Amino acid sequence: MRNEDVCVVGLGAMGSAALYHLARQGAAPVGIDQYRTGHAFGSSHGHSRAFRTFYHDPIYVELAEASLPLWQELETLSGEQLLTLSGFLDFARKGNAAFEAKVHVMQGLDTPYEVLTPEEVGARFPALRLPADTVAFYTPRAGFLDANRCVQAHLSQAVRFGATIHEEVRVHHIDLDKDQPEIETSAGRYRCSRLIVTPGPWASDILQALSLPLHVTRQQKFYFRPRDTAAYQPDRLPVYSDNETQYYGFPNHGPGIKVADDTHGSVTSPEAVDRTLDLQKRDDLKQWLEKIMPGSDVSFVEGATCMYTLTPDHDFLIGPHPKNPNLLVGAGFSGHGFKFSTLVGKILAELATDGRTPYPIERFRLSRFG
Ligand SMILES: Cc1cc2nc3c(=O)[nH]c(=O)nc-3n(C[C@H](O)[C@H](O)[C@H](O)COP(=O)(O)OP(=O)(O)OC[C@H]3O[C@@H](n4cnc5c(N)ncnc54)[C@H](O)[C@@H]3O)c2cc1C
Repeated sequence: MRNEDVCVVGLGAMGSAALYHLARQGAAPVGIDQYRTGHAFGSSHGHSRAFRTFYHDPIYVELAEASLPLWQELETLSGEQLLTLSGFLDFARKGNAAFEAKVHVMQGLDTPYEVLTPEEVGARFPALRLPADTVAFYTPRAGFLDANRCVQAHLSQAVRFGATIHEEVRVHHIDLDKDQPEIETSAGRYRCSRLIVTPGPWASDILQALSLPLHVTRQQKFYFRPRDTAAYQPDRLPVYSDNETQYYGFPNHGPGIKVADDTHGSVTSPEAVDRTLDLQKRDDLKQWLEKIMPGSDVSFVEGATCMYTLTPDHDFLIGPHPKNPNLLVGAGFSGHGFKFSTLVGKILAELATDGRTPYPIERFRLSRFG
């Protein structure tokens, strides 16, 4: 039996961030993952995740704003560019009620924004041509994160501050009968004074006893290369999101322009997920891209499969296990968690070391589903 102070199970976006913040606080945490770190089987791999502050609910605007300086601090420490503030452009047809409700929320907050006409969008971002009956909402303190680099930066800085990483160790069972949680793994048994579990789409397996009402969905993203890449770089193009189709895209970064559909795909599981590319979706997204960027002349480069882990209300699950406060859970990030991951890691680290956090997480309590 290994005796450890704090263990983190699952080293994707959330667990790597928790490991980093614990190590920075002076704990000597042990991070465990069933695969090699940086793997592509979960939800955190790839070149980009949107960092947006435009939300239907002020709590997410506040949490995104609180995440921003933490990303910038990690950039300074690691010497890596993680966050590109290219700006974020949301658009919808005039009269789209859900879109107008979000605009209304933003009007009461301090986050800077501009409402733009399609002509103003075209003048500022010449690559984009939006339909005449469109209204656009632009937030400058937004853009995208390089997902692979963020996870790697959290992990390497965690190790620098004293964390240890155990790769290719699968946790089979969590034993909560004793005061200190114990885990049964493929590499033997660990007793951890405090245990943080951030299992992504595997949450229902490892936390089976909680019967969490989670659904895992299959999502895909596709990269296209424009003929003239210079015109689609982040200094000339923001992240853009179509609130009619739920399609969204990025500037040219990594293998090309990434586009994806935010509507929920078919329900699956990490073991059963079909990773073959949906060519119909690829063609639909290409058509959409060519419509809003008529001169782009894009060609397909590559695609990848990823998973959302959805809660019924699409709010996260962050907090202590209802039966044992020494087990802390971060799960159910419902397809929009990456931007907050450094803050989620900080919150979980604070809960593990101080038993409390100043951030508003009551909404995310595990017990809310009965
Ligand atoms: C296509 C796509 C696009 C997205 N776009 C955005 C976006 O633009 N903006 C945004 O903010 N968010 C976005 N998200 C959501 C975001 O990426 C996720 O919320 C986030 O990455 C989830 O991270 P995680 O750490 O919870 O899960 P994961 O990255 O899946 O990590 C879980 C880890 O736990 C490990 N694990 C699980 N069970 C065990 C076990 N029993 N033993 C040992 N290890 C275990 C796994 O191996 C894995 O490494 C997107 C997601 C997808 C799929």
